[in-house]
Amino acid sequence: MRTALLVLSAVAMGIFIAWVGITALRAASGPGPRPRTEPEDVEELEVFLVCGECGTELRITRLGELQVPRHCGEPMRLERRAPGG
Ligand SMILES: [Zn+2]
Repeated sequence: MRTALLVLSAVAMGIFIAWVGITALRAASGPGPRPRTEPEDVEELEVFLVCGECGTELRITRLGELQVPRHCGEPMRLERRAPGG
């Protein structure tokens, strides 16, 4: 049964070549995209976004890259209040 042995080794070689190829591709692609900055947990800090025009308040529980949103056409005010107040 030499044929079976040949087929087996051929399959093994194919798997090995595929594995080497995938590993080389992964190495060539280098480090992935820059890790994103984890959003800061500010739930205990009582941070609010307040609209000075209409008084709408949004409570912030997680702060990522800060971009102050607009409300009523004006940028909202960032307020930090004492916890428990
Ligand atoms: Zn508003």
